[in-house]
Amino acid sequence: MSNQLSNQLSNQLTDQPNTPHRRWMPDRVLFTAAALEEPWGQQIWQRVKALDLPIEELPHNRLTGLRGQDERETYDIAKCTLAVVNAPASQFQLSPIPPSADWQFHLAQGCPAHCQYCYLAGSLPSPPVIRVYANLPQILANLSQYEMADRPTRFEVSCYTDPLGIEHLTGSLAECIRVFGMRPQGYLRWVSKFDGVDSLLDLPHQGHTHCRVSVNAAPIARSMEGGTASVWARLQALRRLGQAGYPIGLVIAPIMPVVDWPMHYKQLFDQIEAAIDFDCDLTFELISHRFTPGSKQVLQTWYPHSKLEMDETHRTVKRNKFGGIKYVYDKATMDHLRHFFEQQISRRFPSARMLYWT
Ligand code: SF4
Repeated sequence: MSNQLSNQLSNQLTDQPNTPHRRWMPDRVLFTAAALEEPWGQQIWQRVKALDLPIEELPHNRLTGLRGQDERETYDIAKCTLAVVNAPASQFQLSPIPPSADWQFHLAQGCPAHCQYCYLAGSLPSPPVIRVYANLPQILANLSQYEMADRPTRFEVSCYTDPLGIEHLTGSLAECIRVFGMRPQGYLRWVSKFDGVDSLLDLPHQGHTHCRVSVNAAPIARSMEGGTASVWARLQALRRLGQAGYPIGLVIAPIMPVVDWPMHYKQLFDQIEAAIDFDCDLTFELISHRFTPGSKQVLQTWYPHSKLEMDETHRTVKRNKFGGIKYVYDKATMDHLRHFFEQQISRRFPSARMLYWT
């Protein structure tokens, strides 16, 4: 394990919950030849240079030499590496993303955090290097053909990355917010477990960007979300975004019935209530924990000592229309959890909107 990665993880474990988070700094930054030709790639180069990070300019567009001796070492190398590349042509063909939004698009792929239940496990190429896109202006221009003329169209930008966790290195989230502020019917959505929002507070967002933070009960957040900002810091960041006029929201995920879960989730709601104690456009999204055979296999390689419960015999199988399966909690557990969360939200935040439970 590299020194930086080991420091990051031990900082997370010893971090006082009420302190701001240290920004992620990669050990190395790779630029492909094509990325260096892009003006946005040059803008990222300037930022990385100003932070005095080691830059390698590749003479080609392939990322090579990033494998370790085993999968775990490959993971460690990848999580300390930022690669600036051009988004491939396939990313200009958008996919729908219900229930979160109409469409998803990507400004990066991969994330510097170390959540032991990571949603990206199984969907990222291995090694999971953090790839950020140098052709962002083209990505954003492409979105206009998906925007409906007669109704709001929502675009989610956090499906394959945590956009705020890398914002100090890219500026790409701020650029998205600026562009969506000028769109007639285009609305941006993003979610994060980080807290570095300073550069977003004064942007001309025009209410077209919905900012959310993902939070969880203390036993989960403290033991399973390595490299992220504390829940307290995330909530303070959300508070500042709400006070800057952005529509804001909480994504409570992944919800797990851990020991004493009602007490722990009540304490989480206490924290949310303390942080969001002003009138604002507030939403909740509730996502129970689930896993697939593929994500379980990858997560067990990445986090071999994790205590995350992924026992298929304690779960119900859910099939999608393509025949893929995922393991969710049984109906009685789901109903119990859902009832609890709906009650807490309606009692504590009567004017908030609950967007979905899944
Ligand atoms: S913040 Fe999200 S994307 Fe990043 S490691 Fe955690 S779950 Fe995965």
